[in-house]
Amino acid sequence: MTSSRSTKMVVIGSGLMGTALARAFAAAGHDVAAWNRTASKARAVGGGTLAFENLVEAVAGRELVVVSLSNYAACSELFASEAVASALAGKTLVQLTSGSPADARGGLEWARAHGVAYLDAAILAYPAFVATDYATVFYAGSRAIYDRHHETLQAIAKNSVYVDEKIGSAATLDCAILEAYYGGTLAVLHAAAMCKAEGLDPKVFFAQKNSFLGLISVTADAAQGMIESNDFSGDQCSLNTHVAAIEHIVRLSMDARISARFPKELLENYKRALSAGLGEQELPAVFRTLKQD
Ligand code: NAP
Repeated sequence: MTSSRSTKMVVIGSGLMGTALARAFAAAGHDVAAWNRTASKARAVGGGTLAFENLVEAVAGRELVVVSLSNYAACSELFASEAVASALAGKTLVQLTSGSPADARGGLEWARAHGVAYLDAAILAYPAFVATDYATVFYAGSRAIYDRHHETLQAIAKNSVYVDEKIGSAATLDCAILEAYYGGTLAVLHAAAMCKAEGLDPKVFFAQKNSFLGLISVTADAAQGMIESNDFSGDQCSLNTHVAAIEHIVRLSMDARISARFPKELLENYKRALSAGLGEQELPAVFRTLKQD
């Protein structure tokens, strides 16, 4: 998709993600400079981008600065240079480096001190999905800054979501989704390992993907309502019964001699809810014990 207005911009970082972002912006018709610590990677971006070896020169004359580095420590190291900070003054920086909400707030503090307009952003996609319908980017910060650059930013993800004015909220939402993703993925892999260890082809389990994803979806909907009303009572399945099911998973893992660390951790969390007197409530009641931690 070509943008109606070409933005002069720079993408700092030509790693796997930075390269995909720079190429997507360039493909949408923007004037894109690329800079990377290891200069050869910036030169390899191609797709009509202009590679710079000097960061100050890369930033000069650019309106929008998109950053995609490994972590915020790398960004701090880079922006500690007075020459770089001066070059960034007056520009809009979209921070697409993953981090915690505290990292994002630290970034805003630095940006304010140096006269840089700042958006905290988080991308939910693998590089291959950048610029497709499957990419989502969350943004937080000034609505006015977001609105000014929204059209340009659409080049990397059709699904641009403005989360909140509060810096850190994009990082929070990203961490929340990633926790569900990594936790869910580990559960899926452990489940496949259990099947294999018991002589059941894991493909039989994967064929039931829609069953377990459906269960998670129904539970997430129920949890949302219960958390909002702070009422975890119900007539479907008590936590006592769920805990007994988790004990079977621990037992299977130990009998089959595969790691039982994950189901044991699950059991410990759910049992804590029983100790808190929540055994007769529904599964999402565990939320109460997490708040108390
Ligand atoms: P990557 O391929 O490892 O690239 C890391 C980049 O950071 C490289 O450009 C690297 O430069 C640079 N860098 C690291 N330390 C630096 C320092 N001290 N000073 C200057 N530059 C430094 O990682 P990536 O996959 O592109 O990830 C980049 C960001 O996107 C991360 O925050 C990641 O969490 C996020 N993200 C990635 C994905 C994904 O699927 N890949 C998905 C969502 C979000 P050199 O080339 O010189 O080492």
